[in-house]
Amino acid sequence: MVQRQCRAMTSQSVSGKTTLSSRLAKQIKVTKTKATTAKQELWDIEDLHSVAATTAPRYFSPVQTRKQRQVNTLPKSNLPAKKARQDEVSKTSKIKIGTATIIKCELVPPNETMLELKVEEAAAVKTEQDFPNANWLQHLENIRLMRCEKPAPVDTLGCHQCADQNANEKTQRFHKLVALMLSSQTKDETTFEAMKRLKAQTLTPASIQGMPAVELERLLHPVSFYKNKAKYLKQTSQILVDKYNEDIPDNIQELLKLPGVGPKMAHICMATAWNKITGIGVDTHVHRIANRLAWLKKSTKEPEQTRVQLESWLPRPLWSEVNHLLVGFGQTICTPVRPNCSECLNRHICPASASVLAKKK
Ligand code: SF4
Repeated sequence: MVQRQCRAMTSQSVSGKTTLSSRLAKQIKVTKTKATTAKQELWDIEDLHSVAATTAPRYFSPVQTRKQRQVNTLPKSNLPAKKARQDEVSKTSKIKIGTATIIKCELVPPNETMLELKVEEAAAVKTEQDFPNANWLQHLENIRLMRCEKPAPVDTLGCHQCADQNANEKTQRFHKLVALMLSSQTKDETTFEAMKRLKAQTLTPASIQGMPAVELERLLHPVSFYKNKAKYLKQTSQILVDKYNEDIPDNIQELLKLPGVGPKMAHICMATAWNKITGIGVDTHVHRIANRLAWLKKSTKEPEQTRVQLESWLPRPLWSEVNHLLVGFGQTICTPVRPNCSECLNRHICPASASVLAKKK
């Protein structure tokens, strides 16, 4: 399924061949000759609403509209005629960014366990000069392609995967918050295992509140700063029991008041637990990559500064995907130390890549 999504995307031509780009090129070529009857393989951004109902994770190309795809002589989609999809169309609107069109719409949940994810009103988009890097959209498109090709730990072990699917919704929201609190400066694998140990007991605010601190610390170890996190978890659980009937707050302001909850966790929690997009979750990966790609008018030192700058220009419909997309990219290719630039589709348009830096010398 992931590979089929890849084929629907347009690829920026980049000079030079890498294993990855060659493979992607082959996939696209194969699709052009064989996919005339495979409607699911023709996913452009205008299909976002209908395709989102059946698949996850979802990456769509904002670069190629249906009209552009037809112009590019790719096979026609078997999607219902526009008239039959009036409801869907009425929920969408378009914004122009340079030569690209981005569709703002409501996402339908991919299955019953996900509530409707509502993308909020798009911020007014001005002109290309307002973007810190003219290549940003192509960067994003290339990262989508690379993410399709290479699964990352966050896809299967991320915080959104840590909730007990058999628990009630209130408890699942608490599980997502706990996973986010544990995840700071901790590998996804370690957080996931700690969550498994916690869930093997009963994991509710009341159970954490009643658990001896040493027992909680034992369950969290080897999560980084597990003693501090155990303390914050107990304090937060106490507040949730006293003030929220063991649920979590449904707004960013109250979430940020909980001990051990920072802006990154709060925004991701609002998206994954309440399906409300309130901001971009900027962790160390998003912070690093945004700086490397010069997606910021001024380079930043702190993730919170990066969040403020990104939110000042990145179209709001893209906010919900940026964290998951860049975290996985940072785990697999644009790693903190020795990024795999030779394998990266952005290597010729990335200000931080070795090839670009070498040319400048
Ligand atoms: S630093 Fe290297 S891996 Fe990261 S985006 Fe730039 S070219 Fe790609």
